[in-house]
Amino acid sequence: MIRVMVTGAAGRMGTAVLEAVAAAEDMRVAARVDPALPAGDGNFADVAAALAAGGIDVAVDFTQPASVYANTCAYLDAGVHAVVGTTGLTDHQIADIRARAEAGDANAVIAPNFAVGAVLMMRFAAEASRHMASAEIIELHHDRKLDAPSGTALRTAALMDGDPVIHSVRLPGLVAHQEVILGGLGETLTIRHDSLSRESFMPGVLLAVRQVATHPGLTLGLEPLLFTSEDT
Ligand code: NAD
Repeated sequence: MIRVMVTGAAGRMGTAVLEAVAAAEDMRVAARVDPALPAGDGNFADVAAALAAGGIDVAVDFTQPASVYANTCAYLDAGVHAVVGTTGLTDHQIADIRARAEAGDANAVIAPNFAVGAVLMMRFAAEASRHMASAEIIELHHDRKLDAPSGTALRTAALMDGDPVIHSVRLPGLVAHQEVILGGLGETLTIRHDSLSRESFMPGVLLAVRQVATHPGLTLGLEPLLFTSEDT
């Protein structure tokens, strides 16, 4: 049984992760961390208190850009593997997390998007950009998302040739969507992914919880967990 701590457990993603972990046969919820939860019964107001209580193998973090870096450092320093979905980490912070994961016993998986279809969309966009030089990315999210551009759009742009421009749309009713439009001579190619509910992220989150212990250091993006070297 993998003992999982969920940080941001009262949030939209955290609630979905709690349900997915509870339904999985090989893992269980060992701690819920969120200042919005009532104290007691496995609930903790902060990461430090939950880590001090012990009994955790993997921490799953879906909090907010302002807290994710300190949380992730705390997991790794306590020897707890980290699965991080919270977006907004800077390149400098990611480099520091990589150094901590490589120096210590605990590993980290940081993925801006745990939806398998989104990972494929990024892969196809990267491949298409090698052949079509002009591209723009339109990312569309619900209006309570704190960061813009999205972590997925930034990651997509980093994987593509040609420095694509990113446009961000924030509207009620949306969940998480992205279009990559490539233009060539007399033709366009549109690659689109839609997360229609937060369930779309759960197979990827559970995959990362299961695999983080066997992937030393920092794994950035879900691709290394989904694809073998024969796929690349
Ligand atoms: P949300 O606002 O619904 O939930 C965040 C929760 O975190 C809140 O309940 C808040 O009280 C709690 N929180 C904040 N700081 C905390 C701390 N230091 N310790 C414990 N709890 C803390 O947000 P959400 O929609 O669930 O999204 C959370 C994050 O996940 C965002 O950064 C979002 O962009 C990201 N996200 C990532 C993916 C992915 O696939 N990687 C998918 C969807 C959302």
